[in-house]
Amino acid sequence: MTQRVYSGLALTGPSLECRPADVVVERGRIVSIEERRRAPARWICPSFFNAHTHLGDTIAMDTAGGGDLASLVAAPDGLKHRLLGAAGDADCIAGMRESALRTIRGGTGGFVDFREGGARGVGLLRGAVSGLSCRAVILGRDGGEDAADGAGIASTRDIPGYRDVAERVRQRGGFVAFHAGERDADDVDDALDCRPDLVVHMTHATDAQLRRCADEAIPIAVCPRSNWRLGVATNSAHPPIARMLELGCRVLLGTDNAMFVPPDMAGELAFASVVYGIEPAALLHAGIDGAAVTGTPTWLEPGAVASFFVVDPSQAGLSFSRDLVASLVRRLDAGAIETNVFNQ
Ligand SMILES: [Zn+2]
Repeated sequence: MTQRVYSGLALTGPSLECRPADVVVERGRIVSIEERRRAPARWICPSFFNAHTHLGDTIAMDTAGGGDLASLVAAPDGLKHRLLGAAGDADCIAGMRESALRTIRGGTGGFVDFREGGARGVGLLRGAVSGLSCRAVILGRDGGEDAADGAGIASTRDIPGYRDVAERVRQRGGFVAFHAGERDADDVDDALDCRPDLVVHMTHATDAQLRRCADEAIPIAVCPRSNWRLGVATNSAHPPIARMLELGCRVLLGTDNAMFVPPDMAGELAFASVVYGIEPAALLHAGIDGAAVTGTPTWLEPGAVASFFVVDPSQAGLSFSRDLVASLVRRLDAGAIETNVFNQ
């Protein structure tokens, strides 16, 4: 059986311990990680996992005009939904595929998408990503939940039957996620009461709500750039990422609406690092761990699915880095990535 060996400084295991190594891959899995004293000048990092996207609104990218959260993204009359409603299927598919390709080029091996448009919308995204190397976890709404991997439920205040939807999807073993706490804390407890697999945003969550997430092992996907762009965050207290980590929450990172924020995890990491001052290793962990939350961990360890990227630091002005993890978080761009090895 053909083996491929990737040599360099590898960030191994969930602790992202940096060691010079040969990462040996066979049939899409890591079979061993062997110490190699004189490793070449390459960095090997587990693939990013974008824990929250709406790739469907790529077709409305950087549309002109301001507005608040409701006028821009609320269903059914917000700008986003009017533009999505007016778009043809072919454009919608082409837009999502372009965004998925950008995602892959940037070192992201998978994502969780909240897909609008019911079962038809789910089918369009499946078509858009077919044949691509990324893992797409698609969460439907408006009747699309059963055609998808689960439910991506908007704020409980906007979805009258959210409890039934969550229960039905859970019964069949699907994945349940909610938007919660984006504008204020009022919709968070109702979402947590449904025992979701993931909550998105928690921008204005209280300490008690964060403690619940920690105690009940409910992961949180934060989307800092989206929060700032949509005016629901204006300082480092929102989302309370530092507090989440302090209280023991499992924090993930997502880029949210492709119409406002590009689906590149490196950009999200760099922004979060500057604005929130979180230790780089914790942020990098948050940028990868979504793969584990959705069922397929991609930490570099024997037996794991091989899903990582290789950076050539000399091609990206990174040769003089004194801290590989900090430089990955603060300075990575797609041009630095020499190889993506994405298996599912
Ligand atoms: Zn969202």
